[in-house]
Amino acid sequence: MEKREQLYEGKAKKVYATDDPALLIVSYKDDATAFNGKKKGTIAGKGVINNQMSNALMRRLESQGVPTHFVEELSERETLVKKVAIVPLEVIVRNVSAGSFAKRYGVAEGIVFSAPTVEFSYKNDALDDPLICLPHIFALGLATKEEMDTIIDLALGVNAFLKEFWAGCGVTLVDFKIEFGRLADGTIILADEISPDTCRLWDSATGEKLDKDRFRRDLGGVEDAYAEIMRRLKAHG
Ligand code: C5P
Repeated sequence: MEKREQLYEGKAKKVYATDDPALLIVSYKDDATAFNGKKKGTIAGKGVINNQMSNALMRRLESQGVPTHFVEELSERETLVKKVAIVPLEVIVRNVSAGSFAKRYGVAEGIVFSAPTVEFSYKNDALDDPLICLPHIFALGLATKEEMDTIIDLALGVNAFLKEFWAGCGVTLVDFKIEFGRLADGTIILADEISPDTCRLWDSATGEKLDKDRFRRDLGGVEDAYAEIMRRLKAHG
């Protein structure tokens, strides 16, 4: 596999072409941003942890029947993935109130829901990724009804698996964001990453935050939290 030119540099990753038009290389950086890039920093070692964690979880999801973009881990920070056209939606699943949910509805964090919720944000930096409903997704032609049925089904399946997996690590999966893409033939697959940057993960016993909220909220111990969540994942086997 030959690494070719850089195609894109995002907030946390770079994407490179390869000699195979159907495959890309993703390279994870230590750069951290929050609030749509308004807060910037570095979390030492984050790129390695996010790469390895995302791959470990996507491998497991793939074996549960969830199609993902994962192909092969190439190095500590680099992974070969299937090329997709990203559906411009952040798909957010919540099990417990936190973050923008708690703020929007004026409720405390930590309320356990009787069933998971699924919501969508329109991926558009200039608009600050606004919340979007299904009729507006269809009106804007961002995805079809059939595609959204698949995306919701897959997102709930990912949640059911990850919730149980993290519970086995002594961790509560509060909420997370995933993204989907279309292969050349239109098949919808899970893309992007699953990491402490994109999930809220609380120690089940103490409630300690083991995710990017430590960075967003200046709680300190950011690197230690990322290392601890990775240690738990590895210990789970
Ligand atoms: O901020 P909010 O409560 O809407 O975030 C819900 C979940 O989505 C959190 O786990 C957060 O880490 C993730 N998220 C993300 N990228 C964004 C917005 C939210 O990964 N741009």
